[in-house]
Amino acid sequence: MTRIASGATGLAAAYDVVVIGLGVTGTGVALDAVSRGLSVLAVDAHDLAFGTSRWSSKLVHGGLRYLATGQVGIAHESAVERGILMESTAPHLTHAMPMLLPLTSSVGAGQALLARGGFVAGDVLRRGARTGRETLPRPRRISATEALALAPGLRSAGLRGGLLSWDGQLEDDARLVTTIARTAADLGAAVRTRTRVLHATGTSVSLRDALTSSCVDVAARAVVNATGVWAGDLDPDVTLRPSRGTHVVLRQDTLPGLRTSVTAPVPGSTSRFVLVLPQPDGTVYVGLTDEPADGPVPDVPLPTEPEIGFLLDVVSAAFAHDLRRSDVVGAFAGLRPLLTVSDGRTDGETADLSRKHAVLTSRTGVVTVVGGKLTTYRRMAEDAVDRVVEESRLDADPCRTRTLPLAGAAPRPVLARLEAPARLVRRFGTDAGLVLDTARDLTGLSDDELLAPVADHLPATLAELVFGITHEGAVDVDDLLDRRTRIGLVGPDRALALPAAERALALVAARRAG
Ligand SMILES: Cc1cc2nc3c(=O)[nH]c(=O)nc-3n(C[C@H](O)[C@H](O)[C@H](O)COP(=O)(O)OP(=O)(O)OC[C@H]3O[C@@H](n4cnc5c(N)ncnc54)[C@H](O)[C@@H]3O)c2cc1C
Repeated sequence: MTRIASGATGLAAAYDVVVIGLGVTGTGVALDAVSRGLSVLAVDAHDLAFGTSRWSSKLVHGGLRYLATGQVGIAHESAVERGILMESTAPHLTHAMPMLLPLTSSVGAGQALLARGGFVAGDVLRRGARTGRETLPRPRRISATEALALAPGLRSAGLRGGLLSWDGQLEDDARLVTTIARTAADLGAAVRTRTRVLHATGTSVSLRDALTSSCVDVAARAVVNATGVWAGDLDPDVTLRPSRGTHVVLRQDTLPGLRTSVTAPVPGSTSRFVLVLPQPDGTVYVGLTDEPADGPVPDVPLPTEPEIGFLLDVVSAAFAHDLRRSDVVGAFAGLRPLLTVSDGRTDGETADLSRKHAVLTSRTGVVTVVGGKLTTYRRMAEDAVDRVVEESRLDADPCRTRTLPLAGAAPRPVLARLEAPARLVRRFGTDAGLVLDTARDLTGLSDDELLAPVADHLPATLAELVFGITHEGAVDVDDLLDRRTRIGLVGPDRALALPAAERALALVAARRAG
């Protein structure tokens, strides 16, 4: 049912393009390359979305903050890519999210004026990117009463009103990656998890299958290194200096009635903010920090207690309710790739590639694509594949990902008319029916059982867990709970959902054995 598999058995001896890393960048490269008619193998040492791509703020940024630093080109690129995701390629996985900057006593009149100018400029970016106002409404000043209606927990003393703007929010970052991978696999790419690249050149990779520990060499006409903060392990010319961004997870009822994200000013600073981001699954993320993370890159970065304390303090200053450590039900951290290009191949400069991306050809011929963000993955992939097509003289069609819908994508009015559970439509779009049909056929269970929340207050369903195994390459409970769904972000919820994940695995195994 799926071309997403684990391990390295049964691979062809050679592919046009081998892609290393199945985060948003690598899956994007795989999709771009296969949709140009190239044969593609894309591998990850662990799983889809194992790295930074699952630790983001889950925003589809319009690039406003780049305007503030005069990086107009990057801002425009972000706004264009946001529009492509929200209007063409992934309307099912994205939605408009209101963002409220409360005008409290700590935001002076000058700062408020500046912020308002910024939001107007952001709207100009939206228009420049030809993203419709029905997709992202125009920013506006709102009264204190309206601000409190949207965010009832805000401190009302000294509240003069708010600035309300709109940006894109993802249903989930790992779900975006999974959907890109499935789209690439549906077009013919071989997508393999648990397959580590030990060594790469421009024309070959040595793979180790994590399931069997066996090694195999695969030939390629081009090799793309999309391993994010691990890029330097495979390309000695790439040096990274990661920085850690931490979020904490709260339950929705900790900040009751919150219907908007809130940009909470860091007390004493005029330019630093903490974001309070309600999620579609009943949690709220608060983030994020920016701390140097020197030393070896861990598989899973961990937040520190001072970072968690800082985030709680900033939000407590903006809200009437003081947040306590016990309100925190989960915390996660991701590493931004800050990159130094050491040998002068490209620009010879130290560059902050959390803001822009780079495509670098190493002395061994491996092409590394690094930096950027989730929002701009498609453009990064296009640039990387353009590079390998040119350098390796591949016979490829022009890029077509600008208009290529991801699996399940459809215009919003079509999605709104689908007769399927809303959660499945939000996560699988027009494939919601396929998810349910697959689970029905495979398990013989009733819809009531397949669509029931896997536990109290956990909206994930057995149907999507089964689909995660049959169509999305999940092979164990970690894949299901930590990446195909994000239940694992809250430890106690993970424990509650474990039996459902084990049941889904057992149901599929029994069917395959039979
Ligand atoms: C805290 C934080 C918040 C962010 N928030 C946002 C946001 O809201 N919006 C936005 O647009 N962007 C955001 N970003 C940026 C965005 O998350 C990253 O730019 C993006 O996820 C990087 O993806 P990637 O595919 O390049 O790397 P990764 O997701 O890290 O993928 C690299 C993959 O390579 C694999 N790998 C490594 N070595 C090997 C090997 N030898 N063999 C095989 N596989 C290997 C890893 O297992 C991993 O899965 C955020 C970043 C951070 C750090």
